[in-house]
Amino acid sequence: MKRRNFIIGSLSLVGISSIKGFAKSSLNSLSNKIEETKMNNGTFSLPPLPYPYDALEPYIDKWTMELHHTKHHQAYVNNLNKAIEGTELAGKTLEELIGMASKVPAAVRNNGGGHWNHTFFWNIMKPNGGGFPSGELADAINSTFGSFENFKKAFTDSALGRFGSGWAWLIMSNGKLVVASTPNQDNPLMDVAEVKGIPILGIDVWEHAYYLKYQNRRNEYVENWWNVVNWDEVSRLFKQNK
Ligand code: MN
Repeated sequence: MKRRNFIIGSLSLVGISSIKGFAKSSLNSLSNKIEETKMNNGTFSLPPLPYPYDALEPYIDKWTMELHHTKHHQAYVNNLNKAIEGTELAGKTLEELIGMASKVPAAVRNNGGGHWNHTFFWNIMKPNGGGFPSGELADAINSTFGSFENFKKAFTDSALGRFGSGWAWLIMSNGKLVVASTPNQDNPLMDVAEVKGIPILGIDVWEHAYYLKYQNRRNEYVENWWNVVNWDEVSRLFKQNK
């Protein structure tokens, strides 16, 4: 039985930190969501997708979303649990585990990163998304990159330039917006990351994220993906971590 099933699936988890008494976390509601979806025995579990599998059509197809969530993400969760079971790492939060990526077995780094990255990814997308950021986030993007189009190009270049499997990110790094990318299931929260910071936007550029619909055309996938970005959530993350 899961703890707090009633809140899962809600995109608006503001306030849970005060209910549960968590210390203010760099990751705020996302971290809390991951910890709240733990099973009663302390093992990690797969958070439900916050929208139906076909909700991001036609940009991301239903079959890709279903496999990505129920097979790939589920496998990261299962393998993370296996990797920490019976060790001193069991009981640590996911944020703690990935923050010490250099000191944990590769299976914890890879699958812990996989669990965090995918939980994040589902939440920064939504049906009828896309468009443009507004308010403070728009101002920060304009002052950092010169324009939204320049930012989009920098982020897209980062996503297309990542050789093999990995992620491209927009992060808050020492109070500044920075575009970065990581290999495999690493992320900028890891102590091993070349560029460290707090993700506020990210795209999965593993082939499993797009191959069924786009085959080798990563560029088309990235271009279409902008239509499903959840700028409300990105703005919220920006405000909480600036
Ligand atoms: Mn993936």
